[in-house]
Amino acid sequence: MKVISLENDVCAGGVSSNASPFSTVRCFQFDTFNTITALCDHGILEKATDLCRDYNDLLSKTVEGSDVWNINHAKGAPVAVSSDTFRILCAAERVNKASGGAFNIAVGAASALWHFTDGSTIIPDDEDLAAAIDESDASSIVLGEDEDGQGVVTVPDGMQIDLGGIAKGYIADRVADYLRGEGVEHALLNFGGNVVAIGGKPDGTPWSIGLQNPEGEKGADCWAVLNCEDATIVTSGVYERGFDKDGIRYHHILDPRNGYPVRNGLSAVTVYAHDSMLADALATALFVMGPETGFALAQEFDVSAVFLRDNHEVVYHP
Ligand code: AMP
Ligand code: MG
Repeated sequence: MKVISLENDVCAGGVSSNASPFSTVRCFQFDTFNTITALCDHGILEKATDLCRDYNDLLSKTVEGSDVWNINHAKGAPVAVSSDTFRILCAAERVNKASGGAFNIAVGAASALWHFTDGSTIIPDDEDLAAAIDESDASSIVLGEDEDGQGVVTVPDGMQIDLGGIAKGYIADRVADYLRGEGVEHALLNFGGNVVAIGGKPDGTPWSIGLQNPEGEKGADCWAVLNCEDATIVTSGVYERGFDKDGIRYHHILDPRNGYPVRNGLSAVTVYAHDSMLADALATALFVMGPETGFALAQEFDVSAVFLRDNHEVVYHP
């Protein structure tokens, strides 16, 4: 573990590409703005955004009839789900166990009490949060298969799952697979802080990925720049979703023990890895755990992690 004192800002203006023959598409899915930049025919990128929409319809907790919606409305009955959903749930279970519960998709009832995206600054009642946390024992999620081998999920009545901490990474992996299958060799996907690089830039240099300064203008103020080639860089930060009230930042990464936003002196955690789904879950988990206890988790999954504290100190696991 290295502790680095941040002397000055290194600014790059977010994800950057100097090459001009690139096509770019933007879409709003998963409650976030997503960008795909690739050296390919624009039609391929249009299909990639269709894929994003399909995954949103499968994994969103608010889209009626999605796998997650079906699970959350099953009142304790088993629900057959797609292989995509099942893979995510298996990975979520793995990271939940490995992180000692820091990563917990069963915080859905608690996260539903917060209003991080609608502009309101209402803080939920203590009792409501406590009741929601009572329904968030991830070990009571049962993953199995029916006789045809289809994944079946059972969650207790009252529990709600929320894949917001892992789904974007999974989708980014799948969209990247699609692009590679279409022969794309140079592309950069940015799904709300989940970046996946296919190859590097056509000139042979890596992509430059700017890490957002939590206190700066979104997309325009970075505190560091990482090189990235055939890899993923995922950041969980207090600036992504949330509100400020009475000088306190209420953000969307919740402490599964009490349902409140984690307040541990961190403002962002960035994970550098090869699997964006795991990187996504791990960035959320490491944010909850902090650098000291998170060290073993980053090691176990063989990922690099950068922790940025409120006081601008940087802790780095190579
Ligand atoms: P991320 O931006 O990947 O760190 O994920 C944060 C999102 O995951 C939130 O908006 C919630 O939907 C969900 N979430 C919040 N806290 C947790 C947690 N402790 N474990 C798993 N998912 C969480
Ligand atoms: Mg995450």
